[in-house]
Amino acid sequence: MRDGTRPTRRLRAAVVGGGIGGLAAGCALSRRGIEVTVFEQADALGEIGAGVSIFPNALRQLERMGLGPALAKVGARIGDGSQYCRADGTMVGPVVTADSSGWNGMYGMHRADLLNVLAASLPANAVRAGHRCIGLEQSVTAARLKFANGETAEADVVIAADGIHSVLQKYVVEPKPPEYSGVRAYRGLISREKLPEWREAVHQVWMGDGKHFIVFPVRSGQLLNYVGFVPSQNSTAESWSAIGDRDELASSFDGFDPRVVRLLEMVETCFWWGLYDRRPLQSWTSGRLALLGDAAHAMLPHLGQGACQAIEDGVALAVLLEGKNPVDVPDILPQYEKMRRVRTDVIQAEARKSGLRYDSKYENLEERDREIKNSAAFRRSLFDYDVEEAAVALARLRV
Ligand SMILES: Cc1cc2nc3c(=O)[nH]c(=O)nc-3n(C[C@H](O)[C@H](O)[C@H](O)COP(=O)(O)OP(=O)(O)OC[C@H]3O[C@@H](n4cnc5c(N)ncnc54)[C@H](O)[C@@H]3O)c2cc1C
Repeated sequence: MRDGTRPTRRLRAAVVGGGIGGLAAGCALSRRGIEVTVFEQADALGEIGAGVSIFPNALRQLERMGLGPALAKVGARIGDGSQYCRADGTMVGPVVTADSSGWNGMYGMHRADLLNVLAASLPANAVRAGHRCIGLEQSVTAARLKFANGETAEADVVIAADGIHSVLQKYVVEPKPPEYSGVRAYRGLISREKLPEWREAVHQVWMGDGKHFIVFPVRSGQLLNYVGFVPSQNSTAESWSAIGDRDELASSFDGFDPRVVRLLEMVETCFWWGLYDRRPLQSWTSGRLALLGDAAHAMLPHLGQGACQAIEDGVALAVLLEGKNPVDVPDILPQYEKMRRVRTDVIQAEARKSGLRYDSKYENLEERDREIKNSAAFRRSLFDYDVEEAAVALARLRV
C-alpha cells in the first residue's frame, strides 16, 4: 500500500536517545498516533545541571503539545530588557526575545526540568533506560536495533537522537569527528538569593575580546544560569563531569563589568565543556533511519537553537509520518530531510557567525555592533517560523 491509503496498523517508531531531542520527538510522534519507544543508554533519564533557552519557535510547538502549563511552572520567562553589552557593561542593543507578533514566548529552563516535563507527557513505559544502542539492520519491511544489554527491538522507523557522537550516524554518512571551535564553555548555576540585585527576567550577553559571558534565569527565576566562553586549545573534555577551575573562570573575566565580576565571586563549582559542531552532513536519512537533533545538525550554541531545532525536527517528522503505512517510511524520510535542512544548514552557519560577533573577532567593533543590531530581523524570522504549519503544508502537497 502507498501514501494516501488507510494504514493497516499504527506505525512503530524507535527513538534512540532520551535527551531533549529524543523525548520531544517522542511526544510529537505519540501525539499524532504513532507508537513510540525511546531507548536511552543511561540507567535513568537525566540532564546536566545547566540551563537552556527555549525560544518562541520551539515553545510554540511545545505549547501545542499541551506542555504550556507544566513549562510555565518551571520555566523562567525572559523578555524586554534583555541586552547585548560590551565587556564594560555599556549597552550595544537589545536581545530579541519575541516573534514579529510581539509574542514573548521564551523561557530559561533548567535542563532537567525540561526533560522531566517532556518525559511526563510520554505514554507510560515509552522510555526504556539502560539501552545502549550498538547496531542497526534494515530490511524492506522493518528496522532492527541491537543493544549492548543483548536486547533487540524492531520498528518501522528509527530516529537517531543520540547526540553529536551519534552511533547511528555511520549508517547514513561516512563517519567524521566533529570540529573543535577553539572555545571552552564554563557553566553552572547560582542561587538568585546570592545576587538579590540581579535584574529579573532578562537574558544578558557581555562581549569581550575573544571571550563572552551569558547569564539568564531558570527554574522560575530561583537560579541564574551562567556560561563563560573562553578560548582554549585543550579540546579534550567532552563530558559535563569535567570540573572547571572557578579561579581560572573568574580570572578569564577580570576587568569585565563589575556585575560579571561579582557573579563570578559567588561561583563555588562549575563545569567545562569543549565546544564542537559539524558542517552540514551530506545526508540525514537512509531507508527507515532518520537523524535528528545534534546527531543530524550539531551546531555551536551561539544562537541558542540546538535544542530548539531538535524540537522542530521531531514535530516535522511526526506530521509527515502521521497516518502513514510502514511501507511508505523510506519515501517520507527524505522529505523530512529536505524540509528541515533548508533551515538547519543556515542556522548552523549563523551560529558560527554569532560566535565571532560575541567574541569581538572584528577589526572594527562598530561593524560588530551594527551586525548585532541588524541580526534582530534574522532572529525574529527564526522565531516566526512554524514548523508544524510548514510540515502540514508539505504533507498536503504530497497526498
Ligand atoms: C554551552 C551550551 C549551551 C547551549 N545552549 C542552548 C540553548 O540555550 N538553547 C538551545 O536550544 N540549545 C542549546 N545548546 C544546544 C543543545 O544543548 C543541544 O543541541 C541539544 O541538547 C541536543 O539534544 P539532542 O537530544 O539532539 O542530543 P543530546 O542532548 O546529546 O542527547 C543525546 C541522548 O542520547 C543518548 N545516547 C547517546 N548514545 C546513545 C546510544 N548509543 N544508545 C542510546 N542512547 C544514546 C545520550 O545519553 C543522551 O541522553 C547548548 C549547547 C551547549 C554546549
